[in-house]
Amino acid sequence: MGKELLGKRVSQVEVANPKCLNVPFGQFQKAVVGKTIKAVESRGKWLFLKIDSQALLFNPGMGADVIHFKPDDELPEKYQIKFSLHDGTGFTIRVWWFCYLHLKPKEGLGEHKLTANLGLTPLDKSFTLDYFKQLLSKKRGNIKSFLLDQKNIAGIGNVYVQDILFNAKLHPKRKIPSLTAGELDALFKSIKLILRKSTEMGGLAYEKDFYGNKGGYGPKQFQIAYKPGKPCPICQTPIQKIKTGSTSSFICPNCQPLTM
Ligand SMILES: [Zn+2]
Repeated sequence: MGKELLGKRVSQVEVANPKCLNVPFGQFQKAVVGKTIKAVESRGKWLFLKIDSQALLFNPGMGADVIHFKPDDELPEKYQIKFSLHDGTGFTIRVWWFCYLHLKPKEGLGEHKLTANLGLTPLDKSFTLDYFKQLLSKKRGNIKSFLLDQKNIAGIGNVYVQDILFNAKLHPKRKIPSLTAGELDALFKSIKLILRKSTEMGGLAYEKDFYGNKGGYGPKQFQIAYKPGKPCPICQTPIQKIKTGSTSSFICPNCQPLTM
């Protein structure tokens, strides 16, 4: 998105689902049209577009197709939001169910309740092993709940967490204080590895990138996620599906024993 949008001026904006806005549409339009896109960033599910002195915060809810267009491109059949830029390009957003499209002055970002407490995205440069250990040092619960809580780390969902834990040979119910330095190291590497792999393949198979290409990270890439009964790729033990709080987990009982 950065490659296509940075430095471009917004010429027009359409919002067919104004309920997703936090300000009246007129105010939104006035703050955005004629302004230049200065930065595109993300934290977990939130996309941050810095437009002059304003920040546009977009959250796709269950999901959305955010698709780039060039002047002669045919637009997608369905979309609710459209940003047109001064050079004739732009992007449309088709929301699967609901979304948030919020406007905040850049200096007031800390007052935006839904994003102010988000943790770092694991692919962020500041997300280092030291930072990760520091985060965990004050925590007592189980490791899976910690990883899924977007206030700790923004960007790990119930799909990725399965193989992240499997790769690190950790049972989802392991208590954080019981993790050894070696295990923390393995977990840190596993988080980066799985998310980077998926990002390089364009995301999950049911998602689309900015050019409308389907992601390549699907069941074939999953090691144990959503494969109950199938043999573990390391030791051939059948993969188990277990309940962990409100979510389901997939584990190899041999590679991920619940110790301590
Ligand atoms: Zn195994």
